[in-house]
Amino acid sequence: MNIRKGDTVQVITGKYRAKKGQVKLVLREEDKVVVEGVNVVKRHIKSGRTQARQAGIVEVEAPIHVSNVMIVCPSCGETVRIGHREENGEKVRYCKNPDCGKTIPDRTGWQTRERSAAEER
Ligand SMILES: [Zn+2]
Repeated sequence: MNIRKGDTVQVITGKYRAKKGQVKLVLREEDKVVVEGVNVVKRHIKSGRTQARQAGIVEVEAPIHVSNVMIVCPSCGETVRIGHREENGEKVRYCKNPDCGKTIPDRTGWQTRERSAAEER
């Protein structure tokens, strides 16, 4: 999974196709992401539950599979494929658009030290 929290992605399939939004949450084990304004579902909240302040309906974003989104490169603004390369001894993501090729910053600060083998799929 190449996507990090804070990335801007574009939906490439389904009802929300072509919609862009920021990744709010990455569900690494499920290969899913929660994207701002995408896949909004209504949830009924019952009163009496300890965490719910009031009964009613709230709109929340449901996770979507990462295969349904592509990263929007912050440098060229295109939806792009992501590559990995080393820069100053650190593995970074970069834009595979041949006209761009810029490094894509990781806004979470989540870096190579936590990168697992599963990440390299
Ligand atoms: Zn780019």
